[in-house]
Amino acid sequence: MPNESQPANIDDLISDFSRFYILTILYEGPAHGYSIISQFKKRVKKEVSPSLVYPFLQQLEEKGLVTHTQKPVGEKERKIFELTEEGRELCTCLFKRFATLVAIAIEPSLYVCAHCGCKVYEGGYREVIDGKETAFCCMHCAASYKECKKPIKPTK
Ligand SMILES: [Zn+2]
Repeated sequence: MPNESQPANIDDLISDFSRFYILTILYEGPAHGYSIISQFKKRVKKEVSPSLVYPFLQQLEEKGLVTHTQKPVGEKERKIFELTEEGRELCTCLFKRFATLVAIAIEPSLYVCAHCGCKVYEGGYREVIDGKETAFCCMHCAASYKECKKPIKPTK
């Protein structure tokens, strides 16, 4: 097997989408194992096995990326998991990397605002100007665009 460049630690930990998604749930705030599982199900529309979630949480904890506190939930004591400072930083890096990938994926469907030049993925604003449909990020940009295009009337 060719020896590729040493994978970063994070790639060993986050080997699949399920683990990635668990991190996004933790990133939003402290959660106990059960709520991670139910959040996961609600959003991904897929079951995640506790036998994946708990060992993963433990793994993260061993790496110092997650801590837990015991809190009473109803009758029982439950472990509330929370990202550490280091864990949050790692998530931020991971999400940025992911965002780059997503950006590549959606690039073909982006258009550029004719006024400010920002890239628009969804929504935006279109208006027919001089018989040509022109795309903007918002109506304010369209207004400014028209303002700029207006021929300057010579002052007499
Ligand atoms: Zn704009």
